[in-house]
Amino acid sequence: MSEFISNLRERSLLTDEQVQRLLKATTAAGVSDVRRILQSGYIDQLALATELARYFGIRQIDETEWPSDEVLPDRISRRFIREHHVLPLVADDSSLTVAVSDPTDTAVLDSLRIASERHIELRLATDSQIMSRIEALIEKRTGSLITAQGDSNGLSEEDEAHLKDLALDAPVIDLVNRLFREASAARATDLHVEPARGRVLVRRRVDGLMQEAASLPPELGRAAVSRIKILTGLNIAERRLPQDGRARVRAGEREHDIRVATMPTIHGESVAIRFLHATNQTPDINALGLEPKQLELLKAQANHDNGMIIVTGPTGSGKTTTLAAVLEFLNDPTLRLVTIEDPVEYQIEGVNQIQIRPDIGLTFATTLRSLLRLDPDIIMVGEMRDSETAKIGVNSALTGHLVLTTLHTNSAAGAITRLIDLGVQAFLIASTLRCVVAQRLVRRLCQTCREPHEVSEEFVHEIPAEAARRHKGPARMWKPKGCEHCNGTGFLGRAAIFEILAIDEELRRLIKPDISSDIIARQAIANGMVTMLGDGFAKCLDGVTTIEEIGRVTSED
Ligand SMILES: [Zn+2]
Repeated sequence: MSEFISNLRERSLLTDEQVQRLLKATTAAGVSDVRRILQSGYIDQLALATELARYFGIRQIDETEWPSDEVLPDRISRRFIREHHVLPLVADDSSLTVAVSDPTDTAVLDSLRIASERHIELRLATDSQIMSRIEALIEKRTGSLITAQGDSNGLSEEDEAHLKDLALDAPVIDLVNRLFREASAARATDLHVEPARGRVLVRRRVDGLMQEAASLPPELGRAAVSRIKILTGLNIAERRLPQDGRARVRAGEREHDIRVATMPTIHGESVAIRFLHATNQTPDINALGLEPKQLELLKAQANHDNGMIIVTGPTGSGKTTTLAAVLEFLNDPTLRLVTIEDPVEYQIEGVNQIQIRPDIGLTFATTLRSLLRLDPDIIMVGEMRDSETAKIGVNSALTGHLVLTTLHTNSAAGAITRLIDLGVQAFLIASTLRCVVAQRLVRRLCQTCREPHEVSEEFVHEIPAEAARRHKGPARMWKPKGCEHCNGTGFLGRAAIFEILAIDEELRRLIKPDISSDIIARQAIANGMVTMLGDGFAKCLDGVTTIEEIGRVTSED
């Protein structure tokens, strides 16, 4: 039972029996207690408004505050105010005052804030006061009576014209622009609009973690989905099948290439938006965060004209960025560089980049086979997902091409056993593989507010030798604090932790059909490989990130 309901009981505005009935009433999800009380009619509306004002410390509306004309009609639609029983009263540059009968409906208040781009001030009024004022204003504007069958009931699932109409509604356009702008400002890589029970959740991924961006009433959420589908050229009438689209959108000062995928769910259609990197941001191999020895090793291996270099890690571990940086490092007008990707994330000047299209038969394998006829020098295969691609890839590496690719494995050593599992013969792996880079992304501590803390003697002993060797100065760690630069999170951006397994003669001999990745890893460490954990610890000592972050990304198997 909500505190507000018990408060009403204590003040004898509700009887025990009414409270029981309110609690038992089966109502749609997302309906607030206040709305339920309003609908029950147990309390006179004016008495309820007075009580809400007192309880939540909100002023009741003064008769002189009712507006004589619509406020921000280009941002807040009539449909919205009617459906949610709210009425904008007055707006200035930074704030919007709104009459509400239910101040607890935060989803509606959030929508108003987003659509108006203003801070929201509340005045309490009764539901019937608000609704009659709304109709009076609209009537005055249109000069005709609004019929009872308002368009709020008209949203049939299949009504394409209506969906389009909704998606062109100014508040919806503003809402979507705002979501993009905020996502861009927050440095989000993904934005998700996900219908849930009684609301539509907007979440974004920042520095690898999901965070909630907004919670919208269902209709506004659906309209936002339609708007995004229109922006990306998808069929808005099709809501039962998944669709993919791309577009270039402007968000604040920046333009983004986005890839959009829709997916039907039990609560409605969800949309996932991936922000692709802008064309001019090809990553620099020197800025990936490799320590000097690792960097030197990777460059040396990449400078061969044949063989294979593999980057491994789970989804979202920065593999594509590393490969793009290697490609850019190798980018030379005398060489022919070709990539096969899904999707093309970085556009690199002078490189032929091919997007696979499985729907028309352009898979990784078929594309790779046909492009070998173009005689490339360096081939980047976005991912070796299947046996056929792996086999063609290894064969190309054997026949005078440098092949760069990614595999979905947790450790560098795991790449070798994965290739064997994919049906590649061990001797072919031994004769083509040059090195494997394994990586994860961790959140980078905000350099403005991070705080050092001394660590215990026992902890110092836990630090892997390779990390301790690399670090000069006192053994201390850093923790996040939070400031205005990092939005109070203590983290800003991401950093990668790496391990690079170079295949030397000794390891080459070990690669046999039944080899375990443990044996390979042990041998590599004996040869001086810095493990991802070791690199992570070193980066903790350097104040780049925290032990918790290292633990988080190295334990997700
Ligand atoms: Zn900070």
